[in-house]
Amino acid sequence: MIRSKQIDRPQVVLVVDDQEINRDALGVTLEDYYEVIYAENGKEALELMNEHFDELSIVLLDLMMPVMNGYEVLERVKDDEQLKRIPIIVLTSEKSAELKALQLGAADFITKPFDIHEVIIARVRRIIELSEGKKLISAAEHDHLTGLYNRSFFFEYVNRVYLYHKDMKMDALVINIEQFHAINAMNGREFGDDVLKAIGEGINEFLSEHNGIGSRTHADHFDIYCEHQDDYQPLHEKIQDKANALSPNVRIYTRMGVMPYSEGVDPVTMFDRARAACNMARGDYQHPVIVYDEKLLQKEMLDIRLLNDLDKAIEEKQFKVYYQPKYDIQCDHPRLRSAEALVRWQHPELGMISPGDFIPLFEGNGLINKVDSYVWKEASRQCSEWKKKYNYTLPISMNVSRADVYDFSLVERLKKLMDDNHLDCNSIKLEMTESAYTDDAKRVLEVINQLRALGFEIEMDDFGSGYSSLNMLSQMPIDVLKMDMKFVRNIEESETDLRLVKLILDIARYLGLTVVAEGVETGGQLKLLKDAGCNLVQGFYFSKAVKPEEFALMIEKEIEERKQNDD
Ligand code: C2E
Ligand code: MG
Ligand code: MG
Repeated sequence: MIRSKQIDRPQVVLVVDDQEINRDALGVTLEDYYEVIYAENGKEALELMNEHFDELSIVLLDLMMPVMNGYEVLERVKDDEQLKRIPIIVLTSEKSAELKALQLGAADFITKPFDIHEVIIARVRRIIELSEGKKLISAAEHDHLTGLYNRSFFFEYVNRVYLYHKDMKMDALVINIEQFHAINAMNGREFGDDVLKAIGEGINEFLSEHNGIGSRTHADHFDIYCEHQDDYQPLHEKIQDKANALSPNVRIYTRMGVMPYSEGVDPVTMFDRARAACNMARGDYQHPVIVYDEKLLQKEMLDIRLLNDLDKAIEEKQFKVYYQPKYDIQCDHPRLRSAEALVRWQHPELGMISPGDFIPLFEGNGLINKVDSYVWKEASRQCSEWKKKYNYTLPISMNVSRADVYDFSLVERLKKLMDDNHLDCNSIKLEMTESAYTDDAKRVLEVINQLRALGFEIEMDDFGSGYSSLNMLSQMPIDVLKMDMKFVRNIEESETDLRLVKLILDIARYLGLTVVAEGVETGGQLKLLKDAGCNLVQGFYFSKAVKPEEFALMIEKEIEERKQNDD
């Protein structure tokens, strides 16, 4: 007897419940639409599933049953290639049971006592549609590397838990790997995959002990939705330890953002905030777990404000370019050799904003190109103005972001800028942050070669701040190495740090590179660097970045000295 409204093939539903009254209730509801078959316990259910696996559209499964309970059915189905394609809805009266069922692969749950007929029909239909759609596009529910849910199914389930279990206090967690692209680039994709697997394993272990579900949403992004915990430090440690057990030679850092349960906040917002917290932890290896709080909310509001204000700021010339001198310290006394152009935002309402507060924000969404174009234009104009005024060209360094390198018109635009300002390309140096080199080495190499062929000098910025490799250093055709300020900071107190600086200087000398030490603040640091053979120094010891008017005085002083030396 087939009462299905389908023309081609009847959709078969298996109802599994030890209570006759429940089987009847569901049967009455479903038989108008589907062919329904019944089982009284898990053992019977598995037998019927095996018998009808290619006809079954869905299974409605009770959890508490004699002979074999629903959990065991889920466990067995999970490990069976054939059966696991059949979606299962669990029937339960116990809220805490549902998440466990989801972890075991259940597609949905229906609570007892049963909802009204329409609700049950709608949910059964929906899951069948989802599962058939899924078969069609052959999208797996699980991520093949980690076994965690993929993004779409994860959020499907998260929403369901949120909608039907408002009383459960769920936290949102986001986990990310630091510099994953570099780990891949340096150790190969296979090793990268192993790292992802190890992290997935850590998450799965955590989920086997706690109520929750997890997903690798994409690349090295992991999301977890779980019952509230006070401290996620142990989870973070577990995950990081797993990844670091892979190789003694590769150190892996992960970061985690936590949005604790907050009444009435929907999952999308929960995960947005967890992600914001996770982004805050970026690069901060000392504090890899950040919990979203009031301060972060403020920061987010500020970010939104700055994003909104960007275009107007450019239009109204609110960005100001300051100049920080670089001194040659190998002469009798230090001599001004060049300057770095550093941007500041003079915001009409928020006051002076330092680049640390907006550059990373704009780097994250590609808007940095707008800021950089503005700064380059202004710095080139200024360089040209000084050239005319003093009949002397002091080279200016401009910062180039990672995103700029991927703009195919970059080389052309910079060349045009030089032409418009009647400057030779060697009047301008380009600082590229170290991490840009690890992204897509081929592309970066191509761009750098073109720029150098035109006469631009290339400086590798923040060398040593992330994952540098000697291999990369020897392959990249750069002219100058800017040693990150963290190396210089403690050279007066720490013999080890000083030795490290000397080592970097030796390597640079061997590769024929000039070295600029960044962040030099004391005379003691200056002397040590000079004795070690460092060429150039930039830092508060000489000057912070200053307004152009103030910087002009430094140029005048340098010109004066040149004259005296000529005499
Ligand atoms: P950076 O390119 O490594 O620039 C050096 C930073 O170190 C500057 O911070 C500078 O003021 C600071 N600094 C210099 N000497 C010392 C010192 O002795 N001690 C200490 N503690 N700090 C010192 P600033 O101006 O805040 O810029 C921060 C970062 O923002 C820059 O780091 C650069 O990555 C980025 N940035 C600045 N202007 C631009 C720009 O126009 N475009 C792009 N893409 N990035 C920019
Ligand atoms: Mg720089
Ligand atoms: Mg730097």
